[in-house]
Amino acid sequence: MTAARIDGAAEARRLRQEIARQVTAFPQHDRPGLAVVLVGDDPASGVYVRSKARMTAEVGMNSIEHRLPASTEEAELLILIDQLNRDEAVDGILVQLPLPPSIDPLKVIQAIDPSKDVDGFHPQNAGALATGMSGLVPCTPRGALHLLKTAREDLSGLSAVIVGRSNIVGKPMAHLLLAENCTVTLAHSRSINLPDIVRQADIVVAAVGRPEFIRGSWLKPGAIVIDVGINRISEAGAKDRIVGDVAFAEASNVVSALTPVPGGVGPMTIAYLLQNTLDAARRRRGVIGSAQDEAASSL
Ligand code: NDP
Repeated sequence: MTAARIDGAAEARRLRQEIARQVTAFPQHDRPGLAVVLVGDDPASGVYVRSKARMTAEVGMNSIEHRLPASTEEAELLILIDQLNRDEAVDGILVQLPLPPSIDPLKVIQAIDPSKDVDGFHPQNAGALATGMSGLVPCTPRGALHLLKTAREDLSGLSAVIVGRSNIVGKPMAHLLLAENCTVTLAHSRSINLPDIVRQADIVVAAVGRPEFIRGSWLKPGAIVIDVGINRISEAGAKDRIVGDVAFAEASNVVSALTPVPGGVGPMTIAYLLQNTLDAARRRRGVIGSAQDEAASSL
């Protein structure tokens, strides 16, 4: 079997075009605004922030960038967040992680107004997702679910194994798949006999952060695999490569559909950041009641 390649780059492009179309419904002087805060000079974070700003502008939203030095104190950052919370021109606030070690990321996340928390990391939004209430849903799992549904619309009754239990990927993914009526297993570094757990799955979501960790022999024939992992491989004398958490070539011979890395979940994450900003802008203007209703309609 040669698996279908789920094209996240193309799907993200389509979603951004649709977002751009919907942004035109806002008057020119009141377009949605996304504020991105970068603290320090981590090169990878700098690249992410630049591409987020470019795509925000491309869909017609206002991009507001705040670049602060690595020496910024936690209290200064909290003051900036308070200003952004109160700024009517700002619909979404994203603080790029990781932060310098002297700043507590949990304190920062909790300082963001939940209605502007377009990363969906605030405990109020995490709780809303866990309890089936409306809120802002983290971008990466939202994008991963979207891609899964391009391979199979009805996921009801399927067995889903998510490898990785982080607050930003694994746990919210579990809630999204539960809401799709999957039977969900959340595996992690203490799980015993992981290959056997993965072999039961009709759907595998890999969010581990270990290059090509999940092997083809672990996978059930015909399964759908969503690879969230982004791992940079540096080898002497060769250009750096980016690979996922799944051994792509091996998996391609076993499963029915899978996402590549790069070009899979990564582009969808940024597209859903824009979708969350649009949802937040609409909700703040009283246009829609629920970001999750909108998520469902945009899938
Ligand atoms: P974390 O490091 O926060 O979590 C990794 C998870 O993997 C943990 O739950 C950990 O288990 C589990 N794990 C680690 N080693 C093993 C193992 N040997 N067996 C089973 N489970 C293991 O990572 P994130 O969730 O933040 O990210 C995961 C990956 O996704 C990374 O590669 C990251 O770069 C990528 N990513 C990609 C995004 C995108 O846009 N495509 C966005 C966000 C992340 P335990 O809890 O027990 O420690």
